[in-house]
Amino acid sequence: MHRSDKQLSELDEIVALSREYGVGHDWVIAGGGNTSIKTREWMWVKASGTTLAEITPEQFVKMDRKQLNAIWETTYPQDPDERERHALADLMATRAASEQHKRPSVETLMHALFPHRIVFHTHPTKVNGLTCAAHGEALTQKLFGDRALWIPTVNPGYILARTIYDLVETRRKQLDGAYPPILIMQNHGLVVVGETSEEIRSLNSEVISTLDEVITSHPQMEPLKNDPAELEEPRSAVARAIAEAAAGPAPVTRAFTCPELEARVTDTGALQALNGSLSPDHIVYSGHRPCIVHAAEGENLATAIHSAVRSYLAAEGVLPKVVLFAGNDHGRGAVAVGTNEKKTRLAELLFLDALKVLRYTESFGGVQHMPPDQEAFILSWEVEKFREQVSTS
Ligand SMILES: [Zn+2]
Repeated sequence: MHRSDKQLSELDEIVALSREYGVGHDWVIAGGGNTSIKTREWMWVKASGTTLAEITPEQFVKMDRKQLNAIWETTYPQDPDERERHALADLMATRAASEQHKRPSVETLMHALFPHRIVFHTHPTKVNGLTCAAHGEALTQKLFGDRALWIPTVNPGYILARTIYDLVETRRKQLDGAYPPILIMQNHGLVVVGETSEEIRSLNSEVISTLDEVITSHPQMEPLKNDPAELEEPRSAVARAIAEAAAGPAPVTRAFTCPELEARVTDTGALQALNGSLSPDHIVYSGHRPCIVHAAEGENLATAIHSAVRSYLAAEGVLPKVVLFAGNDHGRGAVAVGTNEKKTRLAELLFLDALKVLRYTESFGGVQHMPPDQEAFILSWEVEKFREQVSTS
């Protein structure tokens, strides 16, 4: 086979597999997750800002494996900012000559550290039930043994890949050089590695069926109601409160509710579990925590919403992406807020995903939120990314 034909078939394979898992919301939502495929010389990795569901061959970035491998031998500065800047420059320099306009996924180095032909990283809801749980690490060991490796939360970028690299090498020494085919990443997601698409499917299925055997508590997501009449008043009050707090145009808002949400907002203990971050995706798309409105008996709802949004902005420094109505008689549910339809829809989707994750954590010892320093890092990182988009648009 001619080399370019060979590369074409590799790309077709990873595109098909990525799209297969991009469908629906069980494995990834929106831009979550990333995938790669290798030949002896090259690695193609998902470009930053693309979605698995709709990915095309052009949205993979071709990178030189020999140069990528050299990154593990490089000593970087101690200072975290300097270290990340140097490692990123080295990473960008590994792009093939034809790929200089593309930006590889922020998790590219995690793909490069495995010699396996396919590295497949997703954020499955059920797996995050385990990764966001108090007994996540102990149960990973108990349920998967040597097949899986638990990765504690680490800031994204070189340092995450380096941490995984070192943990994998330590494990390999115990396993006569064998690689663990499954990584369970705390407050983040799943990585599986293999030689064929079939192997990847089989590993993904193994992980989910293993978890299904121990999940005893399931979320009640149906019926899901969008913009029902009983939430119209709170929805429009949220739109006004956000526009006023932002001193800008009216945002796009969407009200929603489902049995799982109603159960959570009417139980003070269960509501408390929403007061923390689960994973980077949840922070990025639905905010690090919702704005919770407690309207007292007889209190005007619009007034309660205005003061809750103002307090949220003062305390958190950002506007909420989801506003919840808790324990009042004005209808039980939530309103997703965004500057456009897509952002609002994603805020809703990730919030619904968080509700599911929280329910699954009950089968794994209860929720364990992201550590505050990690949460702060992702929040500031988002601001950086936003600035970058603005400056390049
Ligand atoms: Zn990820």
